[in-house]
Amino acid sequence: MKTHVKSLVVGGGAVGASIAYHLAKAGWDTMLLERDELTSGSTWHAAGLLPLFNMGYATSHIHDYSVKFYKQLEAETGLNAGFYVVGNLRMAQTQARMDEYMVYASTAESVGIPYEWMTPAQIRERWPLVRTEDLQGAIYHPTDGYINPADVTQAMAKGARQFGAEIVRRVQVDAYRWTGSEWVVSCTRMVEKGGNLVPSEEQFEITAEHVVTATGNHAQRTARLLGIKIPAIPVEHQYIVTEPDPMLVEYRKNHPEHPVLRDADAKWYVREERGGWILGPYERNAPACFEYDVPQSFRADLFPLDLDRIEEEYMSMIHRIPSSETVGLKDDYNGPICYTPDGNPLVGPAPGLRNMWLAEGFSFGITAAGGTGHYLAQMMVQGEAEIDMAALDPKRYGSWMTTEYAARKNEECYEHVYVLHHPDEEREACRPLRTAPCYDRVKAQGAQFGCVNGWERPNYYAPEGFDDHASRSFRRGGWWQYAVDEARAIREGVGMIDATAFTKHLVRGPGAIAFLDWFTCNKLPKVGRINLTYALTETGTTRTEYTIVRLAQDEYYLISAGAWTAYDGDYLRKAAEDKMADFGWIDIHDVTTQWGVFAVAGPKSRDLLGKLVKDAEPATVLSNKRFPWLSMRNIELGMCPVRAVRVAYTGELGWELHHPIEMQNYLFDQIMAAGADVGLKLVGARAQNWLRQEKSYRAFGNELGRDATPLEADLPRFVDMTKDFHGKSAMQQTGIRAKCCTLLIDGPTDADPWGREALYDGDTKVGRLTSGGYSVVFGKSIGMGYVRPDLAVEGTRLKVRMLNQLWDAVVTADSPYDPENATLRKDG
Ligand SMILES: Cc1cc2nc3c(=O)[nH]c(=O)nc-3n(C[C@H](O)[C@H](O)[C@H](O)COP(=O)(O)OP(=O)(O)OC[C@H]3O[C@@H](n4cnc5c(N)ncnc54)[C@H](O)[C@@H]3O)c2cc1C
Repeated sequence: MKTHVKSLVVGGGAVGASIAYHLAKAGWDTMLLERDELTSGSTWHAAGLLPLFNMGYATSHIHDYSVKFYKQLEAETGLNAGFYVVGNLRMAQTQARMDEYMVYASTAESVGIPYEWMTPAQIRERWPLVRTEDLQGAIYHPTDGYINPADVTQAMAKGARQFGAEIVRRVQVDAYRWTGSEWVVSCTRMVEKGGNLVPSEEQFEITAEHVVTATGNHAQRTARLLGIKIPAIPVEHQYIVTEPDPMLVEYRKNHPEHPVLRDADAKWYVREERGGWILGPYERNAPACFEYDVPQSFRADLFPLDLDRIEEEYMSMIHRIPSSETVGLKDDYNGPICYTPDGNPLVGPAPGLRNMWLAEGFSFGITAAGGTGHYLAQMMVQGEAEIDMAALDPKRYGSWMTTEYAARKNEECYEHVYVLHHPDEEREACRPLRTAPCYDRVKAQGAQFGCVNGWERPNYYAPEGFDDHASRSFRRGGWWQYAVDEARAIREGVGMIDATAFTKHLVRGPGAIAFLDWFTCNKLPKVGRINLTYALTETGTTRTEYTIVRLAQDEYYLISAGAWTAYDGDYLRKAAEDKMADFGWIDIHDVTTQWGVFAVAGPKSRDLLGKLVKDAEPATVLSNKRFPWLSMRNIELGMCPVRAVRVAYTGELGWELHHPIEMQNYLFDQIMAAGADVGLKLVGARAQNWLRQEKSYRAFGNELGRDATPLEADLPRFVDMTKDFHGKSAMQQTGIRAKCCTLLIDGPTDADPWGREALYDGDTKVGRLTSGGYSVVFGKSIGMGYVRPDLAVEGTRLKVRMLNQLWDAVVTADSPYDPENATLRKDG
């Protein structure tokens, strides 16, 4: 057994085996350690379904890769992974569910996943055992099905061995220590004692340059060993197996196997199993388990079946497949299934640690294992994956996250597997938790909140009694008109947005200038000025977008997206640590929770702030001369000291008012009182998202991410090619694979794009939208996205796939609204 390797994978479930396979295949000297036997975690009792259906872009890519990869494993390893490509039929009982499938279908097209539509009559004709009279239709995936989880894991393990990986069973990792250049991993040999698996006296160390943890239900122990937080906590999940169904047995004499059936509105999946059925429900009230650890005595064990909990789903299976009514139960499984608060696994660099990679929190781990191994190995070996893995990054939850939060959110996530996934969905559990001081005030004004990184952030404002939940839709929701009114208020009058959730970092010290100059691609601003800039990845793509404010000679205030505080902070801190020896001392503080932010924008914003500002010459303090566009000034609004920044993400004359958080309510009241005369309207994030698209302002996580360079985002004006910066040569080498553009869309009268739709040139798919919404200025739908570079020119006519139809779209010049920035620069 080796004592030093380049990469050490901890955990021998489906996920760990796939990671070991892909790292070994990439040429890395790899070892996998498993405390028990391979597949002895959740993997052994999985039902083995491989659903391609997924609303996320990165996750869709991951699942798509897995399905293709598993099909080739037998040829490569000689082991049959037990893949039954029976297809997958997802049924819809309501039009809203069909709308959901249509929204999903556009993502599937962007990724290249095949699907077909089926009417109830077509379903009945092919699968007469399925009751269809109360169905609207279904979406059918012909290429997926189910697999034997243990067999596919063993096949991947064999493949890994063939590429030179060493797989060692019965070794438990008990401690990790980073020396500055490698991990020292303390291990204990595990032995059987009275049916239990217990630590032996034999202890040893293995050193590794990189470690990946894929420890499944043991994630909380892993978190403790690493001294970090990992919001992966299992929830109980059960499925039952029936006795053979005589009608099914008869049917199968002349017909192929049924596809995996999903009645999403009834919250279950069903597949055939030896002449009977497997029913897997996603019922209400499934409890979280192992919140603090897996007991040593728990091996490949199960919990007792709780039939009462799944009675409703059981009855609905009988309704859908009437022949199942008379068959008895043969078997049941109730096992821990790992979840995260948003259902996506946690894949990527661990917070605060070097060369430590997490692959935890998999609820569809059999489906995701193949793709996770592939893309994680790309990240580790090449520096980045070809898709943007940010949606899976472990740092999307910050230090505010607790065990209680993760457990309750994970229970909610489990229960939500089959709810309608409206793009405007907001989930309720564990809220409100992180609130700006003005929370009660904006709530009293009708704020309907969304949740970003735990923060409550107004999405829009509605009259008393309005039901946000009932207003959600795959088309224009009941909230749409309120967002239109808010967007108009900013274009025509003045609006105020609570932007407190913005991420804010202070970077200062003797090394700050040289560091930021290297870390970001634009010129650094002069003192009192601001710049928009990007930190790049190793491979030249966009890691973070910053608005940098220079407060003093070597003191900078960095503003970035509110959703990504820990993600941005981790990258910034690690980069600064790496460069201090070259550049000198750099001090970095996350000051997000110290500063509140109100964004006041609109043609009347200067009039409004002019009423409050205290200055020897109040008439000129906000003038272009004293306070030009793209500058920062310390001003006083009443008794509140404000770091005012003259930018507006809405693309209108405006200021971001960064203020001491403890004075927020005072400032809020002042602004509201002064705003009464000028028609101030409170505005939410949805209107802001539409307005920024009229200005072609890219959003981080949509147009900006780790799969495109700033040049592909078509932002050369923010890239200073005369200087050297991190990722520059990789960015140049990448070239322009696709280019970002803005489109005006003649879409349906009752829907706007959500930013996930496929784009066509004639019949040819040429790109996808990354943002979508409604433009109050142009009176039609608007979107931003990536297309083939030759098509990203003003006037190109394309089509957008929305609700299963193609709609006309035209590429506009950048910033279709106010291209000269006249309103932003307006003097007064
Ligand atoms: C009833 C049920 C049905 C399911 N059905 C499906 C399905 O149809 N499709 C699907 O995609 N998913 C399904 N799942 C989910 C799926 O089982 C999991 O997502 C998947 O198995 C997770 O794999 P993993 O490798 O991350 O974790 P695991 O399989 O749990 O593997 C983790 C391994 O790490 C080892 N380990 C932990 N700590 C240490 C340590 N310190 N040192 C050494 N080894 C360690 C453990 O012993 C374990 O073997 C189902 C789950 C359940 C409960």
